[in-house]
Amino acid sequence: MQNSDLIWDLVDNHRTEFEALSDRVWGMPEIAYTEYRSVTEHTAMLRQQGFRVTENVAGIPTAVMGEAGEGGPIVAILGEYDALPGLSQEAGVAQPRPLPGNGHGHGCGHNLLGSAAMLAATAIKDWLEKSGRPGRVRYYGCPAEEGGAAKSFMAREGAFDGVDIAITWHPSAFTEVARALSLANTRMDFRFTGRASHAAAAPHLGRSALDAVELMNVGVNYLREHVPSDSRIHYAMLDSGGIAPNVVQATAAVRYAIRSRDLKGMQELNERVKQVAQGAAMMTGTTVHISIMSAVSNLLPNRPLEEAMQRNLERLGPIPFDAQDKAFAAKIQATLSEEDINNAYRAVGIPRRQETPLCDFIVPLDVRGEPMIGSTDVGDVSWVMPTVQAHAATIAIGTPGHSWQVTAQGKMPAAHKGMTHAAKMMAATAIDVFSDAELLAAAKKDHQERVGRTPYVCPIPADVTPPLQARPKEAA
Ligand SMILES: [Zn+2]
Repeated sequence: MQNSDLIWDLVDNHRTEFEALSDRVWGMPEIAYTEYRSVTEHTAMLRQQGFRVTENVAGIPTAVMGEAGEGGPIVAILGEYDALPGLSQEAGVAQPRPLPGNGHGHGCGHNLLGSAAMLAATAIKDWLEKSGRPGRVRYYGCPAEEGGAAKSFMAREGAFDGVDIAITWHPSAFTEVARALSLANTRMDFRFTGRASHAAAAPHLGRSALDAVELMNVGVNYLREHVPSDSRIHYAMLDSGGIAPNVVQATAAVRYAIRSRDLKGMQELNERVKQVAQGAAMMTGTTVHISIMSAVSNLLPNRPLEEAMQRNLERLGPIPFDAQDKAFAAKIQATLSEEDINNAYRAVGIPRRQETPLCDFIVPLDVRGEPMIGSTDVGDVSWVMPTVQAHAATIAIGTPGHSWQVTAQGKMPAAHKGMTHAAKMMAATAIDVFSDAELLAAAKKDHQERVGRTPYVCPIPADVTPPLQARPKEAA
């Protein structure tokens, strides 16, 4: 019997209780840094499985860590459980139908993400006990992936110190070893201060902060032509200075998200956007206060770990979806456009398969698609240690990320199959690391070569702390 066969049995032994955990978290959607009920569920499960639990990781009340095993290398399995605002949706129906409540919903599948990660960690813990091998596994319950950059703060506070390898996954339309492609991203606020005055009687005495915001946005729109083509700059108005057009607006604020291929490129772009803001302030006789709210790094690949995970996936095979799974996925696909579905195949880099709405195959390691790239705080972990991510199919092909359709599919049998599959991909790869010192050494060497010339510097300034939220009344 190969190691992987035993570890897969150990995953299957626990799958029912972790599917139930995922469903419970789906039913209590909590957004960035308010995940008090979800972290309570995860902490209770860690205790029930016999992990040594550390709460309040990095001073964040909704972060938790559980460790098991003794000595040896340390493998971290990263989980998440935050939801998104505005994506409330009844499960198992293929039409938009929000549930009563706060409007939040698990529109990115993080209920599955956290549960499968802890399922993998639990199976690894069982394997370490059975095999008697030295080694430790840690499950990190990481909050606020959506815009909160919790892992970046956790990395900065040393929460991952001593860990040798990090493994994680994300729910997806396809089953594959994830390509490490994401953009470094900074969220920066620009608050302009001018002088109020009567806009008709004494306009010459006013200095408009709103004009400054508008000029800054115009300036950045011109800047866009002269930045690398994979950079992304977006903005949202925080404060337009009030609703009275007859008052010169004394304050106004705009939030920017600035994304770039790597940390260095992002720092350069940040400076250029700041200069545009200074220019807007000069033109309008206002002042600008600039503050970074959060930032994440780009993802670094790790070839040896990706190859190890791919070998495990090929032995494991595709997810065994059945006719019922496909029938519901077909109903979801009926709510999508042809372009949604074609785009999903184009992104992953394989020809469209008309015959199935669900990924009942596996994607080869080196296909070249046109991945749609966003940003993730796993990026910072990948700068601190060798990191690998799985994707397992939990949603119909073409389902847009962050949509009601993701929430609707989050408790279906297909999603449960996907999360178990992800747990097996992650757990088997961890076992390889414990069993094969050469793999561990190769992963570290690959990592060292990537960061060697540009060592990790946390992109969040030292004085910026996570925007922690008080425990909501309903979670007390
Ligand atoms: Zn996500």
